[in-house]
Amino acid sequence: MAIAAETQPEDQHKAPQEGAGEEKKRWTLNDFDIGKPLGRGKFGHVYLAREKRSNHIVALKVLFKTQLKQSQVEHQLRREVEIQSHLRHSNILRLYGYFYDQKRVYLILEYAAKGELYKELQKCKYFSERRAATYVASLARALIYCHGKHVIHRDIKPENLLVGAQGELKIADFGWSVHTFNRRRTMCGTLDYLPPEMVESVEHDANVDIWSLGVLCYEFLYGVPPFEAKEHSDTYRRIVQVDLKFPPKPIVSSAAKDLISQMLVKDGSQRLPLIKVLEHPWIIQNADPSGVFKG
Ligand code: AMP
Repeated sequence: MAIAAETQPEDQHKAPQEGAGEEKKRWTLNDFDIGKPLGRGKFGHVYLAREKRSNHIVALKVLFKTQLKQSQVEHQLRREVEIQSHLRHSNILRLYGYFYDQKRVYLILEYAAKGELYKELQKCKYFSERRAATYVASLARALIYCHGKHVIHRDIKPENLLVGAQGELKIADFGWSVHTFNRRRTMCGTLDYLPPEMVESVEHDANVDIWSLGVLCYEFLYGVPPFEAKEHSDTYRRIVQVDLKFPPKPIVSSAAKDLISQMLVKDGSQRLPLIKVLEHPWIIQNADPSGVFKG
């Protein structure tokens, strides 16, 4: 799969600011007490940490510069930091700031106490309609917010979703997101969640996120993504042909299938707009109005 470079934001040398007029703060490792490891990613480790002055609990992501360089993802990381630090939404993981030393880059992230959604889905195999609808509605709201700021996420999938202390979903990974006013051509993300226009590398816009939300909704309800196949080439073909099938088990309501079918439409401009997703009868009947699945 070809991954093309895109335009980069300006390099940032200072930590993103909490608010206008505040004194610029340069963080260092000394500002934090480091706690237990929370997980391990491709480029480093994530630790629970406490900011000493405020006692604020955060997740500190430690990335090794050599590994970032080797994989040529420094620009992608800069873009991720630039975008995520400017987003403020209860269903988007906050990025409070960053700092670095000679060997490492540190990201100061909101702590998502209930961990990865992916693990939860593996444990349950699939979610109830109420749970799935609550998650889909909260993600639709978060994506409406992103699109309003001209940010397309482009990589919505269970692995990129964390769960906060109250059970609220948090979009966590903005590695493939892009700040754009234009239509784009770049191929990125994992094949299973990519819309036809991205696997075919034709121009795409914010409607790609509607497709991915449709794929996610399907996976929440069935436990597997809709176009899964043994070979990449078969997944590719199934996506391009929108080869959408609903298995008989688990039993899923026709209202849920209707919503998925309206999101997984080949022509991006014909997909159900996110605002209409929130008004869909399946969402209205099933999603918890608080936006939090209470179990
Ligand atoms: P990543 O490098 O982002 O893939 O993170 C590696 C793992 O660390 C994840 O799979 C999570 O289990 C955990 N993790 C990352 N960020 C957070 C966070 N903000 N809050 C809680 N756990 C996290």
